[in-house]
Amino acid sequence: MENVISSAVMTDHETLIEQEQAAIERIRAARRVLGDQVVILGHHYQRDEVIQFADFQGDSYQLSREGAKVAAKYIVFAGVHFMAESAVILGRDDQTVILPNMQAGCSMADMANLEQVLSAWVELEDVLGDNPANIITPITYMNSTADLKAFVGENGGTVCTSSNARGALEWAFAQREKVFFFPDQHLGRNTGKRMGLPLEQMVLWNPFKPYGGLTDGQIRGARIILWQGHCSVHQQFRPEHVDLWRRHHPDVHILVHPECAMEVVDKADYIGSTAYIIKMVENALPGSKWAVGTEIHLVNRLKNAHPDKMVESLSPFSCLCSTMYRISPIDLANVLENLAAGRVVNPITVPPDIRRNAKLALDRMLAIPK
Ligand code: SF4
Repeated sequence: MENVISSAVMTDHETLIEQEQAAIERIRAARRVLGDQVVILGHHYQRDEVIQFADFQGDSYQLSREGAKVAAKYIVFAGVHFMAESAVILGRDDQTVILPNMQAGCSMADMANLEQVLSAWVELEDVLGDNPANIITPITYMNSTADLKAFVGENGGTVCTSSNARGALEWAFAQREKVFFFPDQHLGRNTGKRMGLPLEQMVLWNPFKPYGGLTDGQIRGARIILWQGHCSVHQQFRPEHVDLWRRHHPDVHILVHPECAMEVVDKADYIGSTAYIIKMVENALPGSKWAVGTEIHLVNRLKNAHPDKMVESLSPFSCLCSTMYRISPIDLANVLENLAAGRVVNPITVPPDIRRNAKLALDRMLAIPK
């Protein structure tokens, strides 16, 4: 029985590989038909079989900006859902954004929804005795849904990326006394800590408990209220992994993304966004050693691009963004072939009022000095 099952699994796997290989030719053919009507944006964490077709590679914010600059009518976003929404918000009215697979979400973005944030806002008002917008600046990380970006836009807040989180927090504290930071607790805590804020002034809001599970005193004494969300990829890196690398390679450089937990970031040599990670490895001396705490596709791409340096994942386990991985060459071929035949499948839309307020929050971010 076991043999029958394993041979059926093998056959399915072989069929999938054949279909993916055939999809490569289908993508090439559809692109020949579409020409410059379409631009493909590929996130750094995307798998190689897909990203090879990207006209631009980058992080979510960079890519959305690139998409808006090109003449193409169709933007195919090889990333996850919130990234495609951001491309709609920043894109032109005559552009259509397409996500090759609607199942490609982001577990972190899903950890905070508008309903939960609105109910937290009401509870904060109850404790603080005033409209929270007079006391708290809301900041949402780029990795969030469009309606949360709109919420911060409406309430005097801003969006931040992993590159400008410190500037966003400094700007926010210049506006009001406190910050409500969602959905990634780690980016908020790591940035606050580097600004010198004590841990007891950065409290964790659990959206599944009344008043976030916090006492009135904790809320009143907090400078940053951190949403209890995280990236399921970056939280897999552990401080023990840093210790292991240092034990076996005392000359290794530990380079991590700020979505990693504080215990990892505190032990690292360098902390920064995907763009920063890429630049650090590119500029490193030949022969240098790097243990990198970010998604495995980016780490492997850096390793292959720099054979004169040692570049490895910080974790002994494969830290893969499984939601982004849902976009396969077959999905890409399907949306492009449909486009070539005049059919738009998987368009991403954002209602006009949400788009307007989310854009307000993104424009505020752009105005913040780096
Ligand atoms: S790596 Fe983490 S934050 Fe980025 S898309 Fe995947 S789950 Fe979301």
